[in-house]
Amino acid sequence: MPTAELIERIRPRLEALLVEMVERKEKIDAHLQHRDEAPEPDSAERAQSMENDEVLEALDVHGLEEITAITRALRRMDEGTYETCAACSESIATRRLEALMFTELCIECAKAREEG
Ligand SMILES: [Zn+2]
Repeated sequence: MPTAELIERIRPRLEALLVEMVERKEKIDAHLQHRDEAPEPDSAERAQSMENDEVLEALDVHGLEEITAITRALRRMDEGTYETCAACSESIATRRLEALMFTELCIECAKAREEG
């Protein structure tokens, strides 16, 4: 498949995902900030609330990583390197990009990285 056609198809999906991730992150950030203003008086509730906050913080970190990855993928599209593996410079399979829209690695490099 020609690159332009692939990018034309994937870019709007990435952009929509980016908007969604940024909105989600803003909600989480707002919630985490709000926590400091109104601590629950009851210690059990407070413990529960802290657990929830830990989950939210984990989501927040994950969300930020995803936002970074999406932003990088969009930049790679602009630079014309979207289909080029960041590690070995071979092309990344179209099917792989469709499944993992913001991957920067071809299947071989991704495997090698997982295995360490
Ligand atoms: Zn590679």
